[in-house]
Order: sequence, then structure tokens, then C-alpha cells
Amino acid sequence: MQSMKENAEELRKKDAKYVWHAMKGYTDESHSLIIDSAKGAWVKDTDGKEYLDGMSGLWCVNVGYGREELARAAYEQLTKLPYFPLSHGHNPSILLAEKLNQYLDDDYVFFFSNSGSEANETAFKIVRQYHQQKGDINRHKFISRYRAYHGNTMGALAATGQAQRKYKYEPLSSGFIHVTPPDLYRNPDDEETLSSAEAIDQVMKWELNETIAGVIMEPIITGGGVLMPPDNYLKRVKEICEKHGALMIVDEVICGFGRTGEPFGFMNYGVKPDIITMAKGITSAYMPLAATAVKREIYEAFAGESEYDRFRHVNTYGGSPASCAVALKNIEIMEDEDLFKRSKELGERLLSDLSELKEHPYVGDVRGKGLLLGIELVEDKRTKVPIDSSKVTTIMEACKNKGLLVGKNGDTVTGHNNIIQLSPPLNITEQDYQFIIETLFDSFWLI
Ligand code: PMP
Repeated sequence: MQSMKENAEELRKKDAKYVWHAMKGYTDESHSLIIDSAKGAWVKDTDGKEYLDGMSGLWCVNVGYGREELARAAYEQLTKLPYFPLSHGHNPSILLAEKLNQYLDDDYVFFFSNSGSEANETAFKIVRQYHQQKGDINRHKFISRYRAYHGNTMGALAATGQAQRKYKYEPLSSGFIHVTPPDLYRNPDDEETLSSAEAIDQVMKWELNETIAGVIMEPIITGGGVLMPPDNYLKRVKEICEKHGALMIVDEVICGFGRTGEPFGFMNYGVKPDIITMAKGITSAYMPLAATAVKREIYEAFAGESEYDRFRHVNTYGGSPASCAVALKNIEIMEDEDLFKRSKELGERLLSDLSELKEHPYVGDVRGKGLLLGIELVEDKRTKVPIDSSKVTTIMEACKNKGLLVGKNGDTVTGHNNIIQLSPPLNITEQDYQFIIETLFDSFWLI
């Protein structure tokens, strides 16, 4: 019988030969972490080494790995009804839309798809058609922020504000305008002045406000570096949207489902978006599912008699019965285990414990909300010049060697991946918590 070691070697070779990995170089084998199984917050590779997944995959395995209830929900639904298109209907999608509305004042209608990118594409198409339906035919432009990520498809990538990810695929969808994001670490006065929100007001005026269809934003820019907004930023943006007749889309693909300590991230900031997009944590990534939640009054603008009044948008797999059944069970787990509250409380504790890292010569900022945290490393705390990415890699590798996986990102345009990311599952144990703290502290003091 082949030994585990030989088997792992062979798999690594086949992986390098056959599988095209996200964001990795052609000959780069550093991705060679091949995961075989997982339980709780821990994943195990084909060599048998275990790691605490401090990123919940890609900010998505919110209830942790190995939840048999979720597997069972998928199995039961697949055996009962594996598929039917949502041009008709099926029970799990109805129950899920009703359940999600319990968090949303029963005010939204749901269009289901499979990924965050699709949920955002769907939102852009709904918004453009909505304005057409109302006879407001010049409104086609969207405003989004530099450093934000909204997906990999031509519209969602156009909304993304990270030029490095985009320039080889252009021309992308037209009509997307970017503004500077809030970043309280580098621009603390923004808390009072709300200058980053006022910039949106100004851009709307310069673009002749009747050409603006909508604004898209995450409550907290996640992939661009955990950029914290002023407390009143989202509220002010909503007011500006209302003033100029634009719709506000909030991208909850990462911030939703407890990641920031609330069911949805916008709930931290006292706004009610016109459209909410969600994916990842909706099923804790056990099944692909995404949704675009639309205020009922927007949906009602599509009520005309002509077939041209309809939303001409079909998605074969979107809202598949098993995905919706898993989402329902996933939300039930979050409620039964009080995971929104747990994320808030653990996040506050983690932020406070990790703040001690600010004594480290290179740690400029430790920030986040709930279990969405970022640690920003700088060369110089006064100038806030980002640290060389190689030092961040040293910390990450040290963490990995000790059995903790963390992420990194930042301002990819300037090539600075100087922000360490930490977003563990919402149900980590006390032991997991201590392990994260100890490992991070040990690893930071290596540089
Ligand atoms: N929006 C945000 C905020 C994201 O972080 C992501 C993915 N990380 C997406 C959209 C796109 O989601 P997907 O990869 O499922 O298409």
C-alpha cells in the first residue's frame, strides 16, 4: 500500500500539472497545500498536518467545517427534488426568501444565483432596467470605490477598484466610476468631515446626476484591506443617493451572515439599502448560492403587462433546491448557536487582545468589526508607508509553520499587500482563540 507521504507527493505533482489555481504563477508550487478533510476550524492536508483556518476559506465557512446537519440537509433535498428552474418555483427557495426577510423587515424580493459576482451582475442589470422602467433613460452609470472587490465577471470586475486585477481584461463593462474609499487609519478626520462620502455627492453633480443609476459598496472594504468607514458614512451615502435619484447596492458577500457581528454588515451603520447582494456565508460555502435582495418597490416597477417590462435574466442553477435547503439549515445553526452575537463578542475581545501588537515597531493599525480583522504593517508609523510585502510573507509563513492560516491583502495597485487578514469561523472554541493569539504574537515578533 502507498504510504501517505508518497500519495501526497503524487497528488502535488498532479495538482501542478492539471489544476489552474487562482492568482498563482505557472510554476509556483507554493499553493501546494492540498487539503483532504476538516472539522470545526481545523483543516488537515494530505500529509496529515493540521491548520487552524484563520480565513474560513475565503471568508465563507462561517459555521465551521464538518457540520453533518448541512450535509444531511443537502442529501435530503437532493433525494426529494434535485432541481427545478426558478422560472417556476420550489419550496426551499420560498422558505429561504421568507426566512431572510425576517432580518429585513419583510421588505425584499430575492433573485437567486450562484456566486457573489453573479449577484452583483444581477443587481447592476436590475438597477439599469429599473430606471428604464421608470422612464429615466439616461441613468446607467455606477459609482464604486477604489480598492473594493466586487467579483470577476465583466461588470463586477468593472465595479472593482483594483486596477491590477483588471487591466489585462479591458475593455470591461462601461459606465463604472471610482471614488476614493474611506480609510480611517490614513484619514481619521473623515470620521467628522465625511469627506469620502461628500466626494460621491460631488462626482454625482459632475456626472450630471441624472446619468447615475446607483452606487455599490461593501459596508467595510474587505479584500482591499479591511478599510473601516466612519460611523455615519453609509448613512450619508444613502442620503446622497436619495438626493440624486440613485439606488444604493450594498455588497454583503463577505460582511453578511455574522462576519461583522450582525446578520448583515450594513446593520452596524443604521442604513437600509435598496439592494443587498449576498453569497459565501449564506450556506457557509457548503453549497454554491448567492442572492440579490431587492426592495419591493423596485420589484414593483417591473409589473408592466408587456414582456419587455420583465427582468429578462435567467440563471440555470441559481437558487437550486439543495443550496437553499443548506442555507436554511445554516441560518438555523447560526441562530441556535447565537453566532451573530458570538462573532460580535469574540471580535471585540480579539481586537482588544491584538491591539497589544501595536507595540510592535511595524504594526500601524489593528482594526475590524466582528470576526473580520486586519493588521496593517508599515515601515514607519509616522509616515504610514506600507511595509515591504516580503515581511508580511515571513509572518504568514511562520504562522503556517505553527499551524495557523491567515490571509494578506492591501492596496494591490501599488503592490502593497501589507495587511494581514484574520477571519476565522464564527464558532471557534476558547482553545482555538488562545491558539490564534499565541501563534500571531510569536510570529509577529520574528520580524
Ligand atoms: N463581492 C465581494 C465583496 C467579494 O469579496 C467577492 C469574492 N471574494 C465577490 C463579490 C465575488 O464573489 P464570488 O467569488 O463568489 O463570485
